[in-house]
Amino acid sequence: MSNLYERYIIMYINELLIEDKITKSIGYVSIENTKITDVSAANLGIHEFIIDDSNTDAYLAEVLPLLDNSIVVFYSADEQLPLLNSILESSGYNHFNGLYLDLRRTLPVFTNSTNTGEQHLSHLELMVQIFWHQYNYLKELPILVIQKLIEVYNSIEDIAIKGYLLNIENEKMQELGATTLASDSVAFSQLVLKKKVITEVEEHNIGLNDLLNFFQNPNREKILNDFEARPQQQKMLEHVHTALKENKHLLVEAGTGTGKTLAYLLPLLYFSLTNEKRVVVATNTVLLQKQIFERDIPLLQKIYKIPFNVAIFKGRGRYLCLRKLINQLANDKGNSTKKSDLLATIIVWLCKTETGEGEELQLKDNKDWQQISSDSETCLNKKCYCFSYCYYHFAKEKANHANLIITNHSLVFSDIKTDHQILPAYKHIVFDEAHHLENEATKHLGTRIQYHDIKQCLTYLYRDIKNGALPKAMDYIRLLLTQGNVEYGDILEILNQLIKQTMELTLAFDDCMLEVRQWILSHQKEQYEYNESIRFTTKLRTDFTKQDLFSNVTTQLKLINTLMEDLEKAIHNYDELDYQLSEYVNNVLMQKRLLQQFEKDLQFFFSKHEDDKYVYWFEIGSNHSYKKLCFNAVPIYIGEILNEKLFDKKSSCILTSATLAIRGSFKYAMKKFGLDVISERVMSLELDSPFDYKEQCLVCIPTNIPSIKDEGVFINNACKLIIKLLSITDGKTLLLFTSNRMLASFHSNLKQGLATTDIKVLAQNIDSNNRSKLLEEFFESKKAILLGSNSFWEGVDMPGDALTNLFIIKLPFWPPNMPIVEARTEQLEKEQKNSFMEYALPEAIIRFKQGFGRLIRTKTDRGIVVIFDRRVIDSKYGSFFIKALPGPTVRAVSENELFNEISEWNQS
Ligand code: SF4
Repeated sequence: MSNLYERYIIMYINELLIEDKITKSIGYVSIENTKITDVSAANLGIHEFIIDDSNTDAYLAEVLPLLDNSIVVFYSADEQLPLLNSILESSGYNHFNGLYLDLRRTLPVFTNSTNTGEQHLSHLELMVQIFWHQYNYLKELPILVIQKLIEVYNSIEDIAIKGYLLNIENEKMQELGATTLASDSVAFSQLVLKKKVITEVEEHNIGLNDLLNFFQNPNREKILNDFEARPQQQKMLEHVHTALKENKHLLVEAGTGTGKTLAYLLPLLYFSLTNEKRVVVATNTVLLQKQIFERDIPLLQKIYKIPFNVAIFKGRGRYLCLRKLINQLANDKGNSTKKSDLLATIIVWLCKTETGEGEELQLKDNKDWQQISSDSETCLNKKCYCFSYCYYHFAKEKANHANLIITNHSLVFSDIKTDHQILPAYKHIVFDEAHHLENEATKHLGTRIQYHDIKQCLTYLYRDIKNGALPKAMDYIRLLLTQGNVEYGDILEILNQLIKQTMELTLAFDDCMLEVRQWILSHQKEQYEYNESIRFTTKLRTDFTKQDLFSNVTTQLKLINTLMEDLEKAIHNYDELDYQLSEYVNNVLMQKRLLQQFEKDLQFFFSKHEDDKYVYWFEIGSNHSYKKLCFNAVPIYIGEILNEKLFDKKSSCILTSATLAIRGSFKYAMKKFGLDVISERVMSLELDSPFDYKEQCLVCIPTNIPSIKDEGVFINNACKLIIKLLSITDGKTLLLFTSNRMLASFHSNLKQGLATTDIKVLAQNIDSNNRSKLLEEFFESKKAILLGSNSFWEGVDMPGDALTNLFIIKLPFWPPNMPIVEARTEQLEKEQKNSFMEYALPEAIIRFKQGFGRLIRTKTDRGIVVIFDRRVIDSKYGSFFIKALPGPTVRAVSENELFNEISEWNQS
């Protein structure tokens, strides 16, 4: 076969310093294509030589003929090729223009492996192993996949990769049954997918006593590694069981170490199995979802010893849309090497993935994923030709068959908002991380209109004369007309009008947004500034209404929505619509619901009369670009809605978190969730901590630190104190802030003050915006401090020595001019209530408890907390913060005493 290449030359060129002179060495291993059966550098023979004036020609004479009809394999061609060329050039040869593979590029593409052993790659032997691993990985793939990969690289004329794949295809063709797929795979649209199976569970019969006995079982440690009996866990288990049985809601505050996940999972699953009812667990983070699925469910399987179905169901955007991918493969391949590599990665991944969840792919650029992920606006549901293979719909179907669904808060509220179109019906649910419930519900049950979303929808319809759903549909109809299919003339006419209308609307919308931006800037006053948020008050609304900025956009939106209706009616008039045409028209109609929603949302946001149960605000990016404009309207008090849409409809909701109660009372949580009006249906439980906080944690408040009111002096003094403290605590410190501005000031001060030490300073939004990356770097550094604001007050989980000090710089009150905070405060004051005591303080205490909880994660952890905000000792309310803590040793001391206290503590 002419396309086949005879051999692979695995080559590594090194620069060496010999007798003060930089010289080069070449090492290579030659592998005949026909003999790739047992590749190891040892039995292939490594050829290695140092280049010097006397021997270059002789060695090159040996190597160069080998390069003919070969594929050279480099690790990082960017670095190696120039070195090879400089050797060739110095001996009077032309630059290398043969075929080469770059392992650094191909490994992540073909094997989804980022662990390339890079640090050791000076060893040619290791390169051979890596090449061998990749070759084998590809050889194990079905031949259909290899052929699809060849097709992808065909279009960019990547001859080396194509040659490499052709060699593999050829070798596979020699195998018996080369074209037969494994029994767990299926071919669809020239792709190979894993078959998806849902197993039904049989009926079973277990008793609660079996379950409770489990906790008395002396062998339980053997059953569950690291399992230890905790009275708190048993108490919670019994309460959850009662709440489920008696159709009650339950609030449980269970701190770290109580084993709360098993304490709700065990009775929940028991309830599901014995009552044949579907149950749901909703977490706030995907991380906890994953942890429950991978860590706790296998434990449950060990305990129950009977089969049950568990499904993990995530947000739609996390699943691949096969239809979008197939469209891309048909239309966009060959644009660039980057695109071809991306498509190749997905093709290989497809034959391995059972879930179709993009997370498994670990793509660097989220935009790439957004283009192929499922979304409700573009999904054709049952009309889609990929429906039977669709990952999202399979996950949904799996959830339908599950005893237990593990999902997230966001999906639960999206389901409520869409009148239960997403999750299968359920009556019993556990909300873990329930302190997020108010925020999540507020976010989902409100309205958010972003410039970007509307613009994306319009561009999807019409990008330019050739691109977009409308021009593509028009082109196809024109083709049909030339073939004599005159009956589609009316559709063509509507599409034509839709194009004009989309263009009109795009222009009107951009003009309007520019004017709105101007209007916002002219009304922006200092008191409205919070993260570039400007509250849309009644006064501003009156002025805005007079300007009538939106009338043109509203008119255009109405017209486009009418045309969409006309298009839908027109296609329904055809008994048999050309299949391809119906695909094109469906692509257009996908945006109908979205456009209607925009019309409705804009009307609501800019209505002359506001709904006084809502707070409205504009968001404008830091650079004040109209492209970052966003309009928000959310309920001021979510309790009423939660009650109506959730607690009233469900038989039992279990809300659990480490921070729900304030000094043993759930009054604040009950009010905020709207449970106070149905208190007869609500149980509550606060569990003691299994940790000995008195012994494990020392809390210090320096008494001579200046007040935070004088910010400049405070920052200066606090930084000096922190630097001194770090000299005795050796880093491993998390500093918690409430604003990015103050964090930045501390960062520059500390960076300067610690410049001569070996303590690394890491800061959120300065060193990285990526929280996980920062935490990883902090964890890996021997001596580091990490400065974090909002999101770092929770979810940081570093047991042991990784984190031994926590510095709370400021008490975590929400900024009073944040629109939602301002509106809630006003509302309480209208009701003649003390907004500080009834809202600002309890919110701050709950966040403070969250922050405090970062330090002690296991029974053996020990650590120090320093609170730099002297309001905790000076103000009337300060003691509430300390009393809310789970009993650590607390010292309010002068600076000198502080050092003694800490030294003594460290030695005790
Ligand atoms: S059913 Fe929807 S999400 Fe699934 S492949 Fe089709 S369009 Fe994509």
